[in-house]
This record gives sequence, C-alpha cells and structure tokens, in this order.
Amino acid sequence: MAGGGAWTITLNTGAHMPVVGLGTWKSELGKVTAAVKTAIEAGYRHIDDAFVYDNEKGVGEAIQAKIKDGTVKREDLFIVSKLWCTFHAKDLVKDACSNTLSDLKLDYLDLYLIHWPMGFKAMEELVDLNMVKAIGVSNFNRKQIERILNKKNLKYRPAVNQIECHPYLTQEDLISYCTSNNIVVTAYSPLGSPDRPWVKPNEPNLLEDPKLQEIAQRHRKSVAQVLIRFQIQRRLVVIPKSVTPERIKKNLQVFDFQLSDEEMKSILSFNRNWRCCPLEWCVNHKDYPF
Ligand code: NDP
Repeated sequence: MAGGGAWTITLNTGAHMPVVGLGTWKSELGKVTAAVKTAIEAGYRHIDDAFVYDNEKGVGEAIQAKIKDGTVKREDLFIVSKLWCTFHAKDLVKDACSNTLSDLKLDYLDLYLIHWPMGFKAMEELVDLNMVKAIGVSNFNRKQIERILNKKNLKYRPAVNQIECHPYLTQEDLISYCTSNNIVVTAYSPLGSPDRPWVKPNEPNLLEDPKLQEIAQRHRKSVAQVLIRFQIQRRLVVIPKSVTPERIKKNLQVFDFQLSDEEMKSILSFNRNWRCCPLEWCVNHKDYPF
C-alpha cells in the first residue's frame, strides 16, 4: 500500500478519518467506478461522495467489488456522503440517508454531512439508528456553527466542517475556530477545482501558479502534490478529485516529503479570499454562508 491511506485524524467521536480522500464531484457515473477501484487499490481508504453528485451507485459498485475481491473490509473504509438541500425537513432526512445507503450498497456511513448550511438537528436520529457513525456540516461559517453548538438540547456535536480551502482561500480564522471546538476541517477543491462547471477564463489557476511550481520543483513533486501536502501539514483532511488513474495514485504520494516552515508560511501568504464555489446564485438566501 502507498502508505498514505493509513494516515488518520481522530474525530470527536473517537473514529479515525484518513487524511487524504478521493473527491467524486463531477466524476461521471461511467468513470467513477474505475476511479474508486483504482483509488482503493492505490491505498485510499476515504471516499467523499454526495447525493447531488449523482454517482453514488457507481461508487457503491466499486466499494462492493473491492470488498468482494478481498482488497479491503468495510471497516477499513471511511465513506462520506451529504444530505442535499431538498431533504432538510425532518421527515425526509431518514429516507434520503436510506437512499444514499442503498445506492452505495452499504449499511452505514462513516460520516454524513449537511451539504449547505441549513438545519442539523434532524441528522441526530441517524446516529441513533446506526445509519451513520458521525454527522457533520459543510460550508458552514463560524456563526452558523456557533448556532448549532449553542443549541440547548444538542445531542451530537458536528465532527467535521467540510469547506473550500486552498492557498487562494486559506480559511485561517474558520479553521482555528473549528479546531478549538474539536471539529475536524476537510478541505474541498484543494486543487482549485479546474473542472468546475462555471469556470471563467482569466480566473486564478492554482496548478499554474509559478510560485507553487517553484516549490514543487524544489521537492521534485507536482503542484497538485504540494497543494495536498500543504493541507495535511495544517492537520486538515483533504479530498482531491480525479478520474485519471495516474493522478489518483500520485495524489496519494504525499507522505514522503515535507514542506518547510518558510514554505508553509509563504503558501499561506498567497491567500486572496478567492472561491471556486461561491454559489453566487444563492447570495440572497438568508443562510448564504460566504
Ligand atoms: P479539485 O480541486 O479536487 O480539482 C479536481 C480537478 O483537478 C479535476 O479536473 C481533476 O482532473 C484535476 N486533477 C486532479 N489531480 C490532478 C493532478 N495531480 N494534476 C493535475 N490535475 C489534477 O476539485 P473539486 O472541486 O472536485 O474538489 C474535490 C472534492 O471536494 C470534490 O470532488 C467533492 O468530493 C468535494 N467538494 C465538496 C463541496 C461541498 O460543497 N461540500 C464542494 C466542492 C467539492 P481529472 O479528474 O480529469 O483527473
């Protein structure tokens, strides 16, 4: 095994979450099964999915195949999915989770996140029903997390906040708030999401940043590997997406080099509060988090 699949961070539930996972947003049904199989073979043990990615059946096929052929056991894997915004009503949450479990061919999830910041309480029942081992949030800002933590009858604290994070959006304040509240941060779009559907010409491109290229050359690594390593050294979980076998493998080869303190500081200084996922069409929603 490449080694990286075994590196974990401990959640407030006591569970161990592998620090590098495979992202699957935009991974088409026809490609995602092969991608997840390649990833598991390469040593990935954490797969990040969501109902809205419309590929959970394909991810489920790969997981089942890799369990069946003996490469992994269910308990070796850390599978994440997310509740979409149309299912926030309390009576819809359980069915939404059941559907996801059925598509993924699993009887429990390791972590279930609220995809966008509205509601949380209704997720608690899923832990009691053993359908999910942990619950968390995604795209929540500090105030929105505070609102949850301040609920008087809160039964389970969120274990994770999954947020956009990379050198152009370093999120230092939110990360420090989450960490001090024992909430692990997962960095999404760590490579700057170059395949995002709304990409415009002239937007910043992390993978082509000359300063990052220089650091990568110094370590004989790719810019993608530097971007992934950067997050691990910040003690974050990171979920680069790829459907390309060579990239899937290389993106896990980040445990054999170390960025210096100066390099880490320098990369943090590239912050420009730029988002690849600003969800501009939701700016007028009362819970818009950015
Ligand atoms: P990433 O930053 O992971 O970038 C993915 C893109 O980078 C793809 O085009 C991929 O191409 C390419 N790529 C992957 N590896 C390399 C490499 N080594 N060299 C060059 N290019 C590479 O973008 P995402 O936005 O997909 O974010 C990662 C994951 O985070 C998502 O897939 C999803 O699981 C999660 N996410 C969660 C969100 C939320 O709201 N909670 C929002 C956005 C993302 P190819 O596949 O063709 O190899």
